[in-house]
Amino acid sequence: MSTIRFNALQETLHRTPVNVIEKGRRSENFGKNVFNDESMRQYMTKDAYKSVKSAIEVGTKIDRKIADQVASAMKDWALSKGATHYTHWFQPLTGSTAEKHDAFFEPIGNGRAMEQFEGAQLVQQEPDASSFPNGGIRNTFEARGYTAWDPTSPAFIFGTTLCIPTIFVAYTGEALDNKTPLLRALQAVDRAATNVCKYFDKNVNKVNASLGWEQEYFLIDSALAASRPDLTLTGRTLLGHSPAKGQQLDDHYFGSIPTRVLNYMRDLENESMLLGIPVKTRHNEVAPNQFELAPVYEEANLAVDHNSLLMDVMEKVAERHQFKVLFHEKPFAGINGSGKHNNWSLSTNTGVNLLGPGKTPMKNLQFLTFFINTIKAVNENEELLRAAIASASNDHRLGANEAPPAIISVFIGSQLSAVLDELEKVKSGKLSPEERTDLKLNVVGKIPDVLLDNTDRNRTSPFAFTGNKFEFRAVGSWANCAGAMTVLNTIVAKQLKEFKAEVDALVKKGLKKDSAIFNVLREYIKSSKKIRFEGNGYGEEWEKEAEKRGLSNNKTTPVALKAKISKKAIDLYEEMEVMSKVEVEARHEIELEEYILRIQIEGRVLGDIARNHIIPTAIRYQNTLIENVSGLKNIFGKDFKKHAKEQIDLIEKISKHIAGINSKTDKMIDERKKANKLHGQKAAEGYCNKVKPYFDEIRYHCDKLEMMVDDNLWPLVKYRELLFTK
Ligand code: ADP
Ligand code: MG
Repeated sequence: MSTIRFNALQETLHRTPVNVIEKGRRSENFGKNVFNDESMRQYMTKDAYKSVKSAIEVGTKIDRKIADQVASAMKDWALSKGATHYTHWFQPLTGSTAEKHDAFFEPIGNGRAMEQFEGAQLVQQEPDASSFPNGGIRNTFEARGYTAWDPTSPAFIFGTTLCIPTIFVAYTGEALDNKTPLLRALQAVDRAATNVCKYFDKNVNKVNASLGWEQEYFLIDSALAASRPDLTLTGRTLLGHSPAKGQQLDDHYFGSIPTRVLNYMRDLENESMLLGIPVKTRHNEVAPNQFELAPVYEEANLAVDHNSLLMDVMEKVAERHQFKVLFHEKPFAGINGSGKHNNWSLSTNTGVNLLGPGKTPMKNLQFLTFFINTIKAVNENEELLRAAIASASNDHRLGANEAPPAIISVFIGSQLSAVLDELEKVKSGKLSPEERTDLKLNVVGKIPDVLLDNTDRNRTSPFAFTGNKFEFRAVGSWANCAGAMTVLNTIVAKQLKEFKAEVDALVKKGLKKDSAIFNVLREYIKSSKKIRFEGNGYGEEWEKEAEKRGLSNNKTTPVALKAKISKKAIDLYEEMEVMSKVEVEARHEIELEEYILRIQIEGRVLGDIARNHIIPTAIRYQNTLIENVSGLKNIFGKDFKKHAKEQIDLIEKISKHIAGINSKTDKMIDERKKANKLHGQKAAEGYCNKVKPYFDEIRYHCDKLEMMVDDNLWPLVKYRELLFTK
């Protein structure tokens, strides 16, 4: 066994679980390190508190003097918690989070110093951010971008640093981060949904989108992970033969959580509690060493921040427990990958979940309005929704032999399908009072309020209604939820705006409001039929059927991303004031570039491993065999072949696989060189269609060799060791 593999396994075997001590009840720790309402009241002047509250609730600006007071309160609170530094915490387009720490400490002359933090530092900072991706918006020599405080997401302390959630924008106004368009999309959906709510309840003046994400991940011992260059550099294994036992026994799902892992989870949950991330559920997932964690849902902007923060915290806590967290959507071939279900709903300031069926016919008509508009929004924008979740790593799930498919469809369950079928029969034009009452009582009124427990769970659907929320399941485990949430809220906003215009037009023509609503909904049901699918989303039949229906099936990122810069998409973003054309195009460029780079890195790493780990090992083993054969020849003379059949056979096979690796790697490198001469879309397509197909071919030979070569010589930690070491 190679020393690296041997040492890694030894280290792993001698791990002892890190003891985690929980102090106090979790509810008492919840939000202790968050500058939440309670701490704001305690540390702020009345004026400052009122200003911040109104900034949070209705988006009013905070003036400079008040900002000084807020900053001073934040500083006092942070110092009382032992913080020494502060940072503007933001989510650049790299997909991770960024922070640059500054000390509160400030020399004030005469050899003395004090802690300082003023409004100016709270409100705005200018990170030297020239190396964050900007898609050509900002010339690097200008490097002018700034971060600005987002008061709707509370500041928190992580370690000894006060973190202030911020947006990141160019001086020319364009968004350079994930949060800015999300906030704009949330505003758009608030505006449009509030207007529609007024049909049902005049008291509604704000609608919030909620998000409850479910984060799947793998935990691998850090020594084992570090021994694999592919895991370290690309986040996934590029080769490795399937173990004799994988997930076929289904013995991991919901099974008892291994002690070491449980301690990790408890530690993580403690940290999450302090940070105000309301984590609630933990369990084993389907694949070995795969787990899931889910919080209670929150307002979408906060939920997105919390997911990004949690991913950071997961990595940091993992270090304490000698684990490496894998967020990659498909770290191991042959077993399930990871996703991040995004559970989404809309709720009003009056406390109503607009996607929750109600007890009265009117409440249910409101529910149906939002329900059907969402389906229609997805129907009209399925390609854009698919584009929102496209990435090199998520391509391994979507459109590969893994769930969910790259075809976006909506699952609503048999009961609601029946309701929509009934509604489709609504007669056009004016309805008599009897007809309206009949509809309300017999169709709408009968939507059972026990729906939540009754919706069958079609696990193969990428976008499913689950009782009182839609669940967008195709989001990648590595992704920032902001991408998916920005698109979803934007398309629903646009749809609701159109709905309002159509209903108003009918009312103007003399229809009663509810007649008008019924009429418009009926048309929506008819025109969005193609997106509804209740069957098995993994089957080949669905691919054929979807094609007939005219649904897109964009299997790879370079193809999927095109929808982002279509005229339709740009018009949509501009109309809803979510992104300008420049911003949309810049993002598209960044994502294409990221795709190219990821595949390029994988190609290089695979080439290196194949050439300098696998081939030399195969040769070494082959030499042993050759030695053995020539020894046998010495003993048995002419007769030796009888005794060396297996050996000679292996020698030949090994040569064949070495030759295979060699020629395929050469070809891959040639294709890489060609792709490198291209730009943008063409380069991405080159990497996708010409370079990437060699990965599987090279892997095939490597994995065959893994099964032939003496286990003692094999240099890389094997799947069975990565996946089953506890
Ligand atoms: P599953 O059965 O898919 O594993 P659950 O039904 O337990 O999941 O819910 C998963 C997530 O959905 C949780 O994060 C939960 O907080 C969230 N959730 C529940 N209700 C809503 C809602 N109305 N809006 C948004 N998210 C919700
Ligand atoms: Mg789910």
